[in-house]
Amino acid sequence: MVGNIHSLESFGTVDGPGIRFVVFMQGCPLRCLYCHNPDSWDSKQRGQYQLSPEELLAEVMRYKNFIARGGVTVTGGEPLMQAEFVKEFFLHCREAGIHTALDTSGAIFTPAVRETLDVTDLVLLDIKSIDPIQHKALTGAKQDNTLRCLDYLEEQQIPVWIRHVLVPGWTDDDGLLQRLADFLRPYKCIEKVELLPYHTMGTRKYEQMGMDYPLKDTPPLSAERLKRAQEILGM
Ligand code: SF4
Repeated sequence: MVGNIHSLESFGTVDGPGIRFVVFMQGCPLRCLYCHNPDSWDSKQRGQYQLSPEELLAEVMRYKNFIARGGVTVTGGEPLMQAEFVKEFFLHCREAGIHTALDTSGAIFTPAVRETLDVTDLVLLDIKSIDPIQHKALTGAKQDNTLRCLDYLEEQQIPVWIRHVLVPGWTDDDGLLQRLADFLRPYKCIEKVELLPYHTMGTRKYEQMGMDYPLKDTPPLSAERLKRAQEILGM
């Protein structure tokens, strides 16, 4: 079994607790309007690395001392497009005593995905929009699988950090944020909600790929709006 890996980062600090070795998997079924990694979309494109779970673990072990209080995060793209590979890799990490986090949109929900979630220490679940119509417009996909995934994580009591990008003119809306807060409140598996302010960094990739950036007229999120969103989410 070989994973198609877009890229690796040895010292990540924003994707889960502590210092983390971050694995970016190639391929994503979503097309978020604000995506900063359009080069990770095509699952048929070869990423920088083609590694077996054992080879990837060997790479991680080179940094074991640095990530001792953190761990490994697998993100993308959408890592659950290669759920079986991630499961095998996480099983190896568990044996080696390394904490595992999975950053996913939850857009794929299959038996193989559930098996992968079962061996994950922490799920960083990206809820792109709480409103089904806006979710489709923002990502090109329905939100149903994301919500099924959250219900499964609740059933299994697998720890979750919710991630939500605040996009001016889209998700940055008091009414939607209140709906999100009300929706998330009953879930006991949720340890934390991370609100990620939309920014315009990363648009250069679109230029390099000869693509139009769909949100080119959208300004970055202001500090005031971030504060307001944090208040609504009770943070
Ligand atoms: S889920 Fe992530 S990688 Fe996929 S399109 Fe959205 S932002 Fe980009």
